[in-house]
Amino acid sequence: MQLIHDVARWRAYCEDQRANGERVGLVATMGALHAGHAALFDAAKVRGDHVVATLFVNPRQFNDANDLTRYPRPRDEDRALASAHGVDCLVEPSLEEMWPDYPNATATTVSVRGIGENYEGASRPGHFDGVTSVVAKLFTITGPCRAYFGEKDFQQLAMVRQMVRDLSFDVDVVGCPIVRDDDGLALSSRNVRLGPVGRQRALVLSSALRDVGSLPANASTLRSRLRATLVDAQLDVVYADVVNPVTFEPSRDDEIGEARALIAANVDGVRLIDNGTVTLEREER
Ligand code: AMP
Repeated sequence: MQLIHDVARWRAYCEDQRANGERVGLVATMGALHAGHAALFDAAKVRGDHVVATLFVNPRQFNDANDLTRYPRPRDEDRALASAHGVDCLVEPSLEEMWPDYPNATATTVSVRGIGENYEGASRPGHFDGVTSVVAKLFTITGPCRAYFGEKDFQQLAMVRQMVRDLSFDVDVVGCPIVRDDDGLALSSRNVRLGPVGRQRALVLSSALRDVGSLPANASTLRSRLRATLVDAQLDVVYADVVNPVTFEPSRDDEIGEARALIAANVDGVRLIDNGTVTLEREER
């Protein structure tokens, strides 16, 4: 596995791969890699891509300085996991090269209106601008044919798709299913910060999603049931809703078909998000 730190070499490396007829597949990460990230590497490998993974803890997408400071950074383990899953090139760029003006704001920001304004966008001001701006930069430098994102960050995935359409990036965005622990908890780099009691309480997120996912009903019924489960468990809920998976508008009772249930909650001082598919069905009055 190639290890690259500077932007000029990273760009040249990807150009060489394309010149050799390779299709570059990009997996963007903030490190503290786990089986959820590994599934993205594997998905790229299965498609025969030349896999370029980036590892950059992007400060511009953290709206909470404490969260940024406490973000885990197990460099050696990350390199070992990436290499074991067939990553061809791991890029670990420096903050100075990625955001030369940091901590001052950059003059240019990529912002996705609409989808990006609710839920994660509303509860973490500035977060999505940081995400779309860095992803646009990664696309520009890497020039990938495909880019792999997890459904764990379902709203982020929808925003990246929107950005690709709006800015005509020549990238095929591939969404990959959420990887969970055996007990249902969605894998996240932040899970290591949960104590044993918090970890147990966190299971309510996935069980509430499984519950509403197994019960076709109208949007109001599913929304109430989801919220009731979380309130009963006395979780500090940031939001819990049933939404249109493309527009991220709250689903209405006259809608049928597939929708998405979204949850964000603070458990043990750790902000967790999860989501799952639900089926909307009309209900007789
Ligand atoms: P992060 O390192 O948290 O920025 O995540 C990098 C990529 O891995 C994003 O596309 C995430 O959606 C994806 N990812 C993180 N956790 C999971 C998971 N449990 N299952 C699937 N994808 C994930």
